[in-house]
Amino acid sequence: MSGCSCGVSNPVSKDYIGSTAWELRHRTGYASNGTGVHGGRHTHTFNEGFWNQCDDFAEDYNYYTSTYGSKPVDWFGDIGIVACKANSWHACGRAFDLTAVYFTDGGYVDCNRSWRWGLTHKRRYLGLAAQLRREFGTVLTAWYNTAHKNHIHFDNGSAFTVIRTSYRSDTTLVQASCNYLDSAGLSIDGVWGPRTEAAYQNLLRAFHLQCYDPKTSTWAASVFLEKIVQHCYANKSAGYYVGSCGGPT
Ligand SMILES: [Zn+2]
Repeated sequence: MSGCSCGVSNPVSKDYIGSTAWELRHRTGYASNGTGVHGGRHTHTFNEGFWNQCDDFAEDYNYYTSTYGSKPVDWFGDIGIVACKANSWHACGRAFDLTAVYFTDGGYVDCNRSWRWGLTHKRRYLGLAAQLRREFGTVLTAWYNTAHKNHIHFDNGSAFTVIRTSYRSDTTLVQASCNYLDSAGLSIDGVWGPRTEAAYQNLLRAFHLQCYDPKTSTWAASVFLEKIVQHCYANKSAGYYVGSCGGPT
């Protein structure tokens, strides 16, 4: 575990990320179908550098949901930024607990429900996690542990980096990508064994990215994650959009 002591340096007060129109709304409960119920626009204190990264994430995320899924962002749901607790980047305003994203067409990703539902919702949830992972080193999902079954946690305690096979957070994200974009049938157990490695190589080939190494190159990791995001919001299986390595051999 890691984190910071309590207190926010360079604090900024914000009620949106990305466009000023994309307000932050607090989750106050659940509807009968398990999706979050959220209140109106509200304000949080953030560490300024972290908020700037959230802002970049929101702009980039909206680009992909709009371009590939015709779903511009409407608002973001949360259950908090600053919390004075041990071993947490929430203590200094450098962590975000995300509960939902709603789109202008009324569609949504709900972080308590979408990962449990059918393929379209699973892909939306996966695409959200993958785009977060393009900005932040730590992204904790429902696949990571039971504490994150109703929200996605992300923080900037570690910077964006390569795909780490020894990290449960990265391994579960890749396993979910292999399953929901390439029908790999893996158990999402966080253990990078031979079956996961084979499925990962299959996914790289399907993306025509097999000549790059997302495990050692941050550039390749970003391109790999981008392909995941594109397919998730287009709701397509791997291979609909391809990279520059040529066809699988
Ligand atoms: Zn959190």
